[in-house]
Amino acid sequence: MPPGCKIAFFNRFAILYSAAKRHLYPYNKERAVHQSDDCIFCQIVQGNAPCHKVHEDDLTITFLDIFPATAGHLLIVTKEHFSDLLEATPAAIAQVGANSVAVAAAIQQVIAPDGLGIYQLNKPAAGQTVFHYHMHLIPQFDGQSIGIHSKKQGDPAELLLLAEQFRKNLTH
Ligand SMILES: [Zn+2]
Repeated sequence: MPPGCKIAFFNRFAILYSAAKRHLYPYNKERAVHQSDDCIFCQIVQGNAPCHKVHEDDLTITFLDIFPATAGHLLIVTKEHFSDLLEATPAAIAQVGANSVAVAAAIQQVIAPDGLGIYQLNKPAAGQTVFHYHMHLIPQFDGQSIGIHSKKQGDPAELLLLAEQFRKNLTH
């Protein structure tokens, strides 16, 4: 089978698969277009709330946490509203995972931390505070202990500068 046909075949399969899935699980169809008015991340995705955006693609958006655990704390967020890992689609989760590699490399360039903590929290018992699937990438340093959710807002000038540096690193 020539490569073009393979892609066409795959696309056809993907369309049929998603149609079948919607038929089998009508709840998913409702969820597929769902964004929540009371969800801060949905508001950011829709452009109704500001953020220091550093990257965006079809499925995800990446921005600085304005309550950073450490300087350069970034969040990769799905564009669609999934409350947690168990609701998110494999495609969205895969995109978040793939982007985490590029974002980690950018953190290494911009911040050069001793280590990088990647956290993905599901449900309150695990410390989730925004109920829209997301991943934290937190630069960490030897001997420093952090809380993932800081109560102290980041310095606005520093956030602006960092966002610019990350954008430069993530757009080539
Ligand atoms: Zn949301």
